[in-house]
Amino acid sequence: MSAPHTSQAVVLRTIEYSDTSLIVRLFTETYGKVTVMARGARRPKHALHGVLSVPHRLAVDYRHKDGRDIQTLVGVELADSYAALAGDLGRSAAAWLLVEMLDRAVQVADPLPLLFRLITSSLEQLNTTTGDFPTVVHFYQLQLARQLGYALQLEKCPRCGRQVQTAVLDPLGGDLLCVRCRPSGSLRLGRAALSYLRDLAATHISELDSLHPASGVRQEVDQFLLKYLFIHVDGMDKLRSLKFWRQVRK
Ligand SMILES: [Zn+2]
Repeated sequence: MSAPHTSQAVVLRTIEYSDTSLIVRLFTETYGKVTVMARGARRPKHALHGVLSVPHRLAVDYRHKDGRDIQTLVGVELADSYAALAGDLGRSAAAWLLVEMLDRAVQVADPLPLLFRLITSSLEQLNTTTGDFPTVVHFYQLQLARQLGYALQLEKCPRCGRQVQTAVLDPLGGDLLCVRCRPSGSLRLGRAALSYLRDLAATHISELDSLHPASGVRQEVDQFLLKYLFIHVDGMDKLRSLKFWRQVRK
């Protein structure tokens, strides 16, 4: 038995299949990660040509069959193409990174409406921001870690309970520790970087343009958050979009 399913969705990845069809991985609001077959979508004059692209937001209809890895796409409406990203290398690299991180972090058919809200509001903010777009990436990474159950503790050292001034990342346990509890080989995070992370955690996504971290601080936090996610989330260290991101981030 197959059942009609309808949901909002973000395109995570597309894979060419035959000369005319496309396999599309979606993160749907209602059903989580779903893979669908879009027959004929690669034909130049097909109505879906260019619609099924990363990181577009869509309203989708598909036929769901239990036990099947790939479902059948029936209808699509484009909800948002985030058009401003297309002409901007830095912001489009950021969007690719956000989407691929989500793809690697979540499992198939696991509805996570809060994560859907996080990815769509982050893409929207990237699309409209006039500020420092890496702050959107850092905000997203902080919230992604939190929603996956690995919230960063930014105030007190979990080993000794002291207030953290300059922090280090324990490469084994993955906790943020104070310098006194520093294990060998740990990544250091300076006061300004810690302060920027606390600001990010306390700022609503729509207010991110008010944050202007110095370029050194931004790079320190960029490296730190990636390392943090690599430690906690399996497969995150294999991000294909990371090379492009590292070339264009400011
Ligand atoms: Zn400590």
